[in-house]
Amino acid sequence: MSDPKSFDILVVGGGMVGSALALGLSRQGWHVGLVEGSERKALLEAPATADSVEGFEPRVSAISVASQRLLEELGVWSAIAAGRHCPYQSMTVWDGDGTGRIQFEAAELQARALGTIVENRHIVRGLFSALADSQVELIDGVKVTGWWQNQNQRGIELENGTMLGADLVVAADGANSRLRQWVGLPTREWDYDQQAIVCTVKTSQSHRFTAWQRFSPTGPLAFLPLLTEGGDEHFCSIVWSQDTEEARRLMALDDGSFAGELERAIERELGTVESISRRFAFPLRQRHAKDYIATGFALVGDAAHTIHPLAGQGANLGYGDVRALLDELAQARKSGLNASDDLVLARYQRRRKGENLTMMAAMEGFKQLFARDELPLRWLRNTGMRWLNQLGPIKNRIAAEAMGLDA
Ligand SMILES: Cc1cc2nc3c(=O)[nH]c(=O)nc-3n(C[C@H](O)[C@H](O)[C@H](O)COP(=O)(O)OP(=O)(O)OC[C@H]3O[C@@H](n4cnc5c(N)ncnc54)[C@H](O)[C@@H]3O)c2cc1C
Repeated sequence: MSDPKSFDILVVGGGMVGSALALGLSRQGWHVGLVEGSERKALLEAPATADSVEGFEPRVSAISVASQRLLEELGVWSAIAAGRHCPYQSMTVWDGDGTGRIQFEAAELQARALGTIVENRHIVRGLFSALADSQVELIDGVKVTGWWQNQNQRGIELENGTMLGADLVVAADGANSRLRQWVGLPTREWDYDQQAIVCTVKTSQSHRFTAWQRFSPTGPLAFLPLLTEGGDEHFCSIVWSQDTEEARRLMALDDGSFAGELERAIERELGTVESISRRFAFPLRQRHAKDYIATGFALVGDAAHTIHPLAGQGANLGYGDVRALLDELAQARKSGLNASDDLVLARYQRRRKGENLTMMAAMEGFKQLFARDELPLRWLRNTGMRWLNQLGPIKNRIAAEAMGLDA
């Protein structure tokens, strides 16, 4: 067998996280390959006009200010912001079973927005347009089917039989990462026994550039504001996490009955629900790799951790990983170290594991607190929310953390 084509760094998976990482690494001067199972042509396709609920992509992300900064530094945010996106200035969170309510305001933080809702495919499209003008060698439309390693190198096998080698392989191949399994990095995981129902709706009232989140014992419901090209403020992306049985019942309803349930569940904050796109349901599972690294190997994004979508932090945690790995590898390059240097990878793991675990634990605590119906817990969360809402500095500190700002 001839020697496999070789890179400094091979990134597997060109989703929101892997494509950003590949772009950043190549800008640092590393020889980078990016392997993505989908065809680049499909990923670069122009979006449909959003003049109806079906015009929007079903999957969206609440991009934090810190993630936006990273995308700005990579030079892709202006392309993303030239397309459909919706900055939101307020966030309202309340307990459907009580009187507790918290309101976060960008103005109180001297910020222009708390975050921006963007369709996932727009972010990937922006990144792939930039990749086309970069030094990254993009290997698209082909899946990785295997992993190999010898004393000095390691690499992957593609479904067409091609072998590729690298000093460092980074897995950004999503929640069910095959690479993580082949390399043998175990995970700690548990099933929430919940599903997230995702769709787009049009409401009779404007969303008022607010992200709405109502908690109930069977799970949280989020209305995330969207904006059409023409500036119509009546569209929202829904993420409705519900216990599996309840999610199945909701999925089986016809559109009219589902709209009625949604209006009741959000307490008609946005008036009536006038139209609903096709609905999708995702099973929810918390997953965290016990280690993010092995010799010449690292995990980023959902391949390392998946989190409940109740605070919309999944992609933001992934971008936190990208930021940390870019910092450590820039330093390694300056110092003349290899990309696979053990200490460099260990520093990356140390920086990210604690932060990701803290966020995951906080989400779990939130979910448990709102799932319980006992009177003392209901009192605690309602009193806690009202109390927190009146405490400007602490509340703003929490908001700044979620936005990824240094408060
Ligand atoms: C219902 C729901 C709502 C969410 N809402 C939010 C939100 O509001 N805000 C937020 O920040 N996050 C949110 N998230 C989480 C967010 O979507 C994920 O964290 C994010 O998409 C992870 O990006 P990634 O690039 O790590 O993985 P992925 O997006 O899964 O990308 C993996 C890529 O790898 C490729 N790939 C996989 N296997 C192979 C292979 N063998 N060979 C070649 N290529 C391969 C795939 O084609 C894909 O392009 C939500 C998640 C869910 C389920």
